[in-house]
Amino acid sequence: DDERLRLPPWLKTTIPVGKNYASVKSRLRELKLSTVCEEARCPNIGECWGGGEHGTQTATIMLMGDTCTRGCRFCSVKTARAPPPLDPDEPVNTARAVASWGLDYIVLTSVDRDDLIDGGSIHIAKTVREIKKRNSNIFVECLVPDFRGDMQCVETIAKCGLDVYAHNIETVEKLTPFVRDRRAHYRQTLYVLREAKKFNSNLITKSSLMLGLGETDSEVEQTMLDLREAGVDCLTLGQYMQPTKKHISVIEYVTPEKFKHWEERGNKLGFLFTASGPLVRSSYKAGEFFITSVLK
Ligand code: SF4
Ligand code: SF4
Repeated sequence: DDERLRLPPWLKTTIPVGKNYASVKSRLRELKLSTVCEEARCPNIGECWGGGEHGTQTATIMLMGDTCTRGCRFCSVKTARAPPPLDPDEPVNTARAVASWGLDYIVLTSVDRDDLIDGGSIHIAKTVREIKKRNSNIFVECLVPDFRGDMQCVETIAKCGLDVYAHNIETVEKLTPFVRDRRAHYRQTLYVLREAKKFNSNLITKSSLMLGLGETDSEVEQTMLDLREAGVDCLTLGQYMQPTKKHISVIEYVTPEKFKHWEERGNKLGFLFTASGPLVRSSYKAGEFFITSVLK
């Protein structure tokens, strides 16, 4: 496809693997747990699982199946109107595995389940409670859907005992209708993030932006201001990568220098941390950042 941009050198580099990576991986096999890190072949796995400089290990687990009711134009997860029912044993089985895995920080994410009355919020909340019951030292981040703005669902998650409430804004306001599913709205995302904190003032909130979709600098800046205004504490920015030719195209490969610029802007705007780089994903070294920037 001639239309497609050439991959710049900074996206071709391999990342060093931390010292704990191999043990995490072998433990995972025993526990039969499936992670987003492996399934999405995330390039950061060596750093996240390996535990980086401070040795804080992070992994991301997907709950509620592999089929989403939405169809965002950047996402390769498969879509159906009515995915299979939830596995009622998943919260306990996941918690058992996670608690015995010995990780420091776990990100629980999921597909969107607009087919369920509670959007799956009770299922997610139960998983968090089961994890904390077994190992209260694990930090838990939930990267959750917008629940169509249903505040009962937001409250269920906000009060379940999690440490970090994450919901991704994904892109700037102007591009939202072209990038996200038509049921996702920029203002709704801001609203959900703001309200989550009202339900539980101890919560740390987090959001993520993909760059390279044709957004302008002033639009990125405005999105950062909007997130701060909604009380969002932590921000990640990364390069959008097109999963297949059917997905929305990359308009630009944003340079590492530009990502550095956004990191500095984020710090100035008062985010507790801004993780910004071409390969940064919303859960990138989440535990490491949490321990060094939020708990410090
Ligand atoms: Fe993918 Fe999430 Fe959009 Fe579903 S809601 S298509 S999992 S990004
Ligand atoms: Fe896993 Fe997220 Fe880290 Fe990738 S960035 S390895 S998905 S925790």
